[in-house]
Amino acid sequence: MREGIHPTYYQATVTCNCGNTFVTGSTKQDIHVEVCSKCHSFYTGAQKTASAKGRIDKFNKKFGIR
Ligand SMILES: [Zn+2]
Repeated sequence: MREGIHPTYYQATVTCNCGNTFVTGSTKQDIHVEVCSKCHSFYTGAQKTASAKGRIDKFNKKFGIR
């Protein structure tokens, strides 16, 4: 590995807008993000999908669509 071509690699502290913090590897020491895996991603996405499916079911029943 030649010196000078690789940036310094830090254990970066990532701070999210929801208050969650976690440590990851990065070339920056401090990172601020608007969403993380706790306030975004599949967890909240799954809840939205579930409620949307419920509305579709109600719509289909209302109009007799199977
Ligand atoms: Zn978050």
